[in-house]
Amino acid sequence: MPKHPELFRCRVVRSERLSPSIQRVTVTGPDLAAFPWQGYDHWFRLFLRKPHQAGFVLPEISGSTWYKGFLAIPEDVRPHCANYTVADYRRASAELDIDFVVHCGPDGEAEGAAAIWACAVAPGEELALLDQGLLFECPDDASDVLVVADESGLPATCGILRSLPRDIVGRVIQEVPTAADRRELDAPAGVTVTWVVREDTAAVPGAAALAELRRHVPAGESGYAFVVGESGLATEGRRHLHRAGLPKTRITFSGFWRREVREVREVREVREQAAAA
Ligand SMILES: Cc1cc2nc3c(=O)[nH]c(=O)nc-3n(C[C@H](O)[C@H](O)[C@H](O)COP(=O)(O)OP(=O)(O)OC[C@H]3O[C@@H](n4cnc5c(N)ncnc54)[C@H](O)[C@@H]3O)c2cc1C
Repeated sequence: MPKHPELFRCRVVRSERLSPSIQRVTVTGPDLAAFPWQGYDHWFRLFLRKPHQAGFVLPEISGSTWYKGFLAIPEDVRPHCANYTVADYRRASAELDIDFVVHCGPDGEAEGAAAIWACAVAPGEELALLDQGLLFECPDDASDVLVVADESGLPATCGILRSLPRDIVGRVIQEVPTAADRRELDAPAGVTVTWVVREDTAAVPGAAALAELRRHVPAGESGYAFVVGESGLATEGRRHLHRAGLPKTRITFSGFWRREVREVREVREVREQAAAA
């Protein structure tokens, strides 16, 4: 993470459906030409205006801390905050693309404040990005690279493949909800890509990628693995790779989101409604 993460104010240029499960929002702003894009899985915290909020209040950022400033904003004007990856960046036009997974709850209704925002947002809407840098940290001596992700990690997978040295070898296991969510990847010739298409809307995202990962045997102790997506995929994926001989220091894993069981979700919704009343 950068020592002094910078906040970039932007506005929406357009929002369009890239594939059945991905909504792409393109943003721009006067400062965005100076965004210190590093490629790979460069990620940021995204601040959005909630539907009922007339104004857009941003946290005070001091040093590396932002959360205290965020909580200091009165709840009725505090923006929504979620984590996203740079899907693409064009310095010349100061444009940055964000790919949002469109997801539904158990009853089929759209869920997730950021995802719902992305699908409905109009050009001109204000937002802000707080730069967080990279999670991907492949040692220079890595013999091969393994990337495993569900659809929330697809922008990271795309960015990593595009940024990797062209002579690297490795493998990608990428889960997507439908066959039409697969896309062209700019992968080095020595990296094989396995798409895992879920199709079953009731299946837990990440479980199919995890099943494929469990069939994968690391080549040795000198590789590097990056495993992201639903929390179960990240933690169980790391456990499998470590048991199979890969040192923990050579595995980056991150639960990008957590699947909530219906009961936990209902309790959370009741609490949120009570807090808003
Ligand atoms: C470093 C990092 C980078 C990330 N990059 C991206 C990215 O580029 N694109 C992206 O789409 N996500 C990305 N994520 C994941 C994203 O932050 C979460 O999915 C987040 O919960 C979305 O916020 P929300 O406001 O839409 O949903 P929330 O309000 O957080 O969640 C609402 C409900 O939706 C469920 N939910 C959340 N995400 C998903 C999902 N993907 N599939 C199914 N159900 C879900 C939750 O379990 C919860 O029940 C990233 C996460 C991290 C940590």
